[in-house]
Formats: sequence, structure tokens, C-alpha cells
Amino acid sequence: MLTSTDDILSPTPKKFLIVGGGVFGLNAAIALRQRQHTVIVFDRLPIPAEDGSSNDINRIVRMDYGAKGLEQGLAEKAILKWREWNDDATKVLPDDDRPLFDECGIILACQDKVLGPYERGCVEFLSSIGHGPLLQELSASELGDKFPAFAEATSNSVMQSAYYNKLGGMVNANKAMVYLKAKADAMGVEFFTGEDHGSVADFISNADGRVAGLTTRDGVHHYADAVLVAAGAWSASIVPELASLVVASGQPVIYVSVPENLREEFSSKNFPVWTADITKTGIYGFPVQEGVLKFACHSLGFTNPTPAPWSSDPSTLISIPSPVGTPLGDTIPAPKYKEMLSFLRTLFPSLADAPVARARLCWYTNTFDERFVISAVPHREGLYVATGGSGHGFKFAPVIGDVIADVVSGIESEVAKGFAWRDSPAGTGLYLPKGDGTLREHLPI
Ligand SMILES: Cc1cc2nc3c(=O)[nH]c(=O)nc-3n(C[C@H](O)[C@H](O)[C@H](O)COP(=O)(O)OP(=O)(O)OC[C@H]3O[C@@H](n4cnc5c(N)ncnc54)[C@H](O)[C@@H]3O)c2cc1C
Repeated sequence: MLTSTDDILSPTPKKFLIVGGGVFGLNAAIALRQRQHTVIVFDRLPIPAEDGSSNDINRIVRMDYGAKGLEQGLAEKAILKWREWNDDATKVLPDDDRPLFDECGIILACQDKVLGPYERGCVEFLSSIGHGPLLQELSASELGDKFPAFAEATSNSVMQSAYYNKLGGMVNANKAMVYLKAKADAMGVEFFTGEDHGSVADFISNADGRVAGLTTRDGVHHYADAVLVAAGAWSASIVPELASLVVASGQPVIYVSVPENLREEFSSKNFPVWTADITKTGIYGFPVQEGVLKFACHSLGFTNPTPAPWSSDPSTLISIPSPVGTPLGDTIPAPKYKEMLSFLRTLFPSLADAPVARARLCWYTNTFDERFVISAVPHREGLYVATGGSGHGFKFAPVIGDVIADVVSGIESEVAKGFAWRDSPAGTGLYLPKGDGTLREHLPI
């Protein structure tokens, strides 16, 4: 069996085609190039794709994963690397002075006077591995004293207990993607992007069934030793086997314009990333960036049942994202939109009149257990997948490339085992939970 070191030090150069230039695809490309392989990335849009889930003003970086040791350990390594990337980004993108990784810390708050099971589980697990000194448990009044922007939330009972973890914060996801693309370009990764040259329509199989390449929408065949699909929420529309394992779910995200006089109070100097009893409400948010405060609801989300492109039976439905620029992609179903704004106004009454700058759905690729799927596709030699980000994949950017490169190189590791192909509770049927609703129930706001 190969070890990671063998492969990196004396690789047998191969050619890999990667479908999808999101955070999984780009980091896989960089890690494979570092191992001397030839890599071509295909994307249906210029990178970062406007409606890809890796492209947004921010993403949370946290290591608070309850007792999930695999994710916690990887996230902790990633945080240390994000610090290195912060420095490196100033060299790679000298004209962009926006912070890449902003270590503003994170508040995990609850509505009750005692922490809920998830938050308590995080404190206990992190303390058990020696991270107690990073954490600070706070009563309602202590929370309001430490971060004045929460004072009203504590007095009106939305936040009655909390803990603060100073290790973590947020990354500017858009900047991180631009940085990764620049790094990949400099290393010699090749890119085909756009509706014709970059959209992958099909795979090429040899007579023995081995996947030997792919075909783009313009009809061009591209051959390689292996193909990796990292197409985020679109993955199951390309790889039918994934339809029982992942589902695309639209998650509501709202951006409000914060008045000038409040920006200092809500800036990352004075206000961290926050979750507001997330296991009950789903609501979480960020400090102000470029005048905008983003908040979102982590939930099962909205599905968009669509006939599966690979099936001749039109009643075979999978959820496929409604892209931005379409009415369904650009709006949030009205009841959810109203509920979220009303919650924000209770939490931060000073923002009651802050205008909504933008509201949209952003697409998770959910697995039933919220673990990624980084694996060979069973019975399709030469075809691999790296997907299932489940709403928390971005923070792992600095470490996920090597995990993926190990898997496609046939190198076993404990981490890779955690993300292996597995049966979903739905068995071989399609995995299409109803979630918060389907977009067919969409109403104009
Ligand atoms: C609302 C929201 C909030 C989130 N919050 C956090 C957070 O706070 N912290 C965190 O760590 N993570 C978070 N995540 C999750 C994280 O953003 C994702 O796990 C991660 O970005 C997934 O990256 P990806 O590369 O798998 O997918 P994507 O970034 O979506 O990339 C997939 C790419 O594949 C391309 N593609 C699709 N089909 C084809 C085709 N046929 N041919 C060619 N190209 C194709 C697309 O254009 C796209 O560029 C959040 C996600 C969402 C939606």
C-alpha cells in the first residue's frame, strides 16, 4: 500500500480531470499538482462560479463540532493553515487589502439560561482536549457587557446564555477563491470554463467500463487516467450513484445594509461571528463587512425537484439548484423570508429599519449524516467524487485538498475512511427529504 509520503516524493505522474472549480475542486487540483500530476479543471462558469456555494462574502471558520473528533481535528489544523494563507494572500493578491481570515472569534448563544446540548457538548469536548482556556462561558449580562451589540438580545430573552470561542472567526470566501485560483494558475493547473468548453455533459467509458475521460457540452472529448467530480450541489445530476447519498438544498441567506453610525459596533473588532440557538432556530450571522451584515438559516432547506438528466423516466426527480439570476434562485420563499427578518429585528432592534441589500438561496450539498463523500464511485473504476459539503465544508479548504488527493491516489488514511462511500438510510432509492419545503411552493415576496 502507498503512503502519502511515497506518493508525494516519488509520484507516478497521472492526468486528472476535475469537474467543478469550487473549494473542493480547486484544493484537489492544487494538491494533485503539488504531487506532480497533470490537472485540468472544468467549470460551467468562470471561477468562482457566481452561484457556487464557495462564492460568498464570508464563511464561518470554527472547530466547535460537539464530540465529532474527525471534523474538530481537521478544523483545528485548517485554522492554523488559514493563518498562513492570510500572510500568503498578501503576496499572491497584493492589491486586495480585504482580510482573508478574520479571527474575530465566535459566540454560540442559547435562548435558555443554560447552554443547550450542542453548545454544552462543544464546551465539554474542547475542554477535554485541552482547549478550555480558549473558551469563556457567559451569562446574559456578561454577553451584553462583552459585546454591546448583543445587549438588547440578552434583555429580550433571545440570548440568555452563551460561550465564546476565541479560536475561529470568518473567511472572505470570495477572496479565498480568487486566491486559490491564482495559486492553481501559477502552478500550471489548466482550466476550461464556460457553458460550452467547461460544462461537463458526460463521461467516456472504455469497453471494460472504466471511466477514461469526459465530454464537455461542446462535444469535445477529454481523456485522462481518472475523473474527479467536485460539482457541489450539481454532483448528483452528473453522477447518478450520488442521488441516494446527497441532496441539493437551497438555504436562505439575507444581507442587510447597516447604517453608517452602527457599523463600528457591528464590526469584527467589536462583534464576533454568532449563532443564535442554532439547533433550535438555525439562525447564525456575521460581523459587518463592507457595510453589510449577512445572516442565514441553517436548516434542511428547500429542494428543487427536477427530472434527473441521466434518467429516461421523467418521474425520476432529484433536487438541482435554481441558479442565481432566475426568480427561484434569487428569492427566498416568502414565509421564511418574513420569519428570518422578524427574528433579526428581535435580536438586533437597532437594525429594524436596515434595508435588505440582497436575499437569495445558496445551495448546500447535504448528506444524511453531514459528512463529506470523498471516494471512488462503486463499480465505476476511474471515477471519484469529492462533495457533500453539507453547509460546513469551506473552512476545511486548507486541508481538504490533501485528503482528496490521497483518495484518488489510492492512499488509505483514517480521515479518508471517515468520508468513505456509505449507504444512506434511503438505501438505493433517491435521497430527497422534504426539508422546509419545495421551491414549487415558492411565493413571491
Ligand atoms: C448558505 C451557505 C452557508 C454556508 N456556510 C458555511 C460556513 O459558514 N462555513 C463553512 O465551512 N462552510 C459553509 N458552507 C458550505 C461550503 O460553502 C461548501 O461546503 C463548499 O463551498 C462546497 O464547495 P464545493 O466545491 O463542493 O461546491 P461549489 O463551490 O458549489 O463548486 C461546485 C462547482 O461545480 C461547478 N459545476 C457544477 N456542475 C458542473 C458541470 N456539469 N460541469 C462543470 N462544472 C460544474 C459549479 O459551477 C461550481 O463552480 C455554506 C454553504 C452555504 C450554501
